Amino acid sequence: MTPLVQQYAEGTGGATGVGGGLGRRSSWHTVPVRIVVCGVRGSTPAPGGEFVRYGGHTSCLAIAHDGEVPSLVIDAGTGIRRASDMFGAAVDLFGGRPMDGTILLGHLHWDHIQGLPFFAAGNTAGSHVEVYSPVQAATEEALKGFMSPPYFPISAGELLGTWTFLGIEEGAHEIGGFSVVAREIPHSPGRTFGYRISDGGATVAYLSDHCPTELGPGRDGLGEIHDAALELALGCDVLFHDAQYTDDELPARARFGHASCGYAVALGQAANAGEVVLFHHDPGRVDDEIDAIVASYAGADIAVSAAAEGDVLDLPRRRGARRARRRA
Ligand SMILES: [Zn+2]
Ligand SMILES: [Zn+2]
Repeated sequence: MTPLVQQYAEGTGGATGVGGGLGRRSSWHTVPVRIVVCGVRGSTPAPGGEFVRYGGHTSCLAIAHDGEVPSLVIDAGTGIRRASDMFGAAVDLFGGRPMDGTILLGHLHWDHIQGLPFFAAGNTAGSHVEVYSPVQAATEEALKGFMSPPYFPISAGELLGTWTFLGIEEGAHEIGGFSVVAREIPHSPGRTFGYRISDGGATVAYLSDHCPTELGPGRDGLGEIHDAALELALGCDVLFHDAQYTDDELPARARFGHASCGYAVALGQAANAGEVVLFHHDPGRVDDEIDAIVASYAGADIAVSAAAEGDVLDLPRRRGARRARRRA
């Protein structure tokens, strides 16, 4: 696969690469918001040749604005190693420097938190990382609990740098230089938030884990197009949405707490989103199957694509434009 550093150099007017270019203003500094897709898989990682084109890491997006290093990371699945890897992978969106920013978690299931201790830009001297997760009983303890002996060799308190673990409530917030709206969405057990992230000119909606059938079947049996989901997605440039199942698989698997591809597209249409990016792929969904799912929406009246590790999305986007994928 093409390393991210090369992807940044492509089509961006001469960026000098992730390590050298993100940290300083370069010829692409006019890009208002840049999203780097670092992990796309749901539930558990999916290594192997059948998954290599879309990727096997679990959920993570890195978001930067105005050519800076990312100030906001959404979810900390194993994909966070593609943002900055303590095992020394070539790609480092932070240019080898400590993170000064926020990790925003939609919820605390394994596939959204397991990358935290392996995130080099955070787990290093000089970092200042705020980690937000939905407020619930003993929020900080819940967030730290997964990372403690005997389940893991170090505790959250032993991470290098400065880490602060905080709860976030529904509503409007200013985080990482972005306006963030948080709304609770059905995906039990535990609280799960979807987010709407905007810099005032570009907006991305992120509903990675979402079980709308918990609220009823909706018009087509795929789940309710409910107010919280509509509020998050309304008029957004890009909607990242749970697409773990096909519509045919949903009846047998809805109890696992996820949505179908058809629901993701229907929500995007109802909310007048600019583009739907199918996300949180089932760990058993091989590349060719994802290709077929995307192809099935070729005639849809909304652009539909599937998230792949290494995708780079620059916002705002020209509405209605089919995405020219930039990745390996
Ligand atoms: Zn998940
Ligand atoms: Zn989940």
